[in-house]
Amino acid sequence: KSGLSRSREQLSEGVARLVLGKKEIDDELLEDLETILLQSDVGVPATRSIMQAVTEKVRRKELSDPAALQQAIRQSLLDLLQPRCEPWSPKPGQTQVLMMVGINGAGKTTTIGKLAARWKREGFGVLLAAGDTFRAAAVEQLQGWGTRVQVPVIAQGSGADSASVIFDAFAAARSRGADLLIADTAGRLHTQGHLMEELKKVKRVLGKQDPGAPQQIWLVLDAGTGQNALQQAQQFHAAVGLTGICITKLDGTAKGGVVAAIAQALPIPIRFIGVGEGVEDLRPFDAEAFVDALFA
Ligand code: GDP
Repeated sequence: KSGLSRSREQLSEGVARLVLGKKEIDDELLEDLETILLQSDVGVPATRSIMQAVTEKVRRKELSDPAALQQAIRQSLLDLLQPRCEPWSPKPGQTQVLMMVGINGAGKTTTIGKLAARWKREGFGVLLAAGDTFRAAAVEQLQGWGTRVQVPVIAQGSGADSASVIFDAFAAARSRGADLLIADTAGRLHTQGHLMEELKKVKRVLGKQDPGAPQQIWLVLDAGTGQNALQQAQQFHAAVGLTGICITKLDGTAKGGVVAAIAQALPIPIRFIGVGEGVEDLRPFDAEAFVDALFA
């Protein structure tokens, strides 16, 4: 079970229905194909580039059998996603910082819990910083994950200054010789501008302790928010400079094509995908496995 069944129904089963009984690839078929891609939230630019590749193959007579259309789309998607595939894991013996950003509800806390569990299981020393001091239950929620996956959480009372919580947590992580500090951050402040300023401040303050920190800044995006996710990504990227993206809730949506839209729009590695609420439901992003799951 891949967790991508709804997206698969939308995309590959949609294409399969489209070509059923068709003898040739004509303009009408290509238009219907375009519609399916857009409905899967592949987005206009990525749809355009996939359609260009497919149309070019048809024009050069490399593709004429409608039944081969699936394979052509699969290949175009793979070409788009492969460059975004760049696995990352902590380095033993240095205390690195992974700062996690994203708007409330995207799945940031859950993804932090899943990542902590994964890397702890792999033998890394992991510490969490409860840097979302704005949302009422955020600190308790992170502490809940800490208890569940048995990873220490450094926290202060809610209302504390986010940058100072994370600064202190980094000092604690260094003195304990942890390999990785994962810092939770706010997902909403009074305004979007305030939020971006706070995130920049967290980054700046970490850099004072270690010019290389934070080594990673990952944005968590909810796949279900579709094209909205793109705008968020652009905004966060402009503010803090992202080094990775995690896309959550791919199990709950038929719009998994948004992964292609994100890959097309932003030259940022897609690190992990979330396919459920459980601690095991996080996968390192693997373009081939992803496309295979969509076209299984
Ligand atoms: P935050 O506000 O960004 O920290 O979001 P949370 O981590 O609290 O997640 C919001 C909701 O989304 C929770 O109910 C999570 O269980 C759920 N969630 C997070 N990731 C996934 C996922 O990959 N799949 C599903 N189905 N639910 C998820």
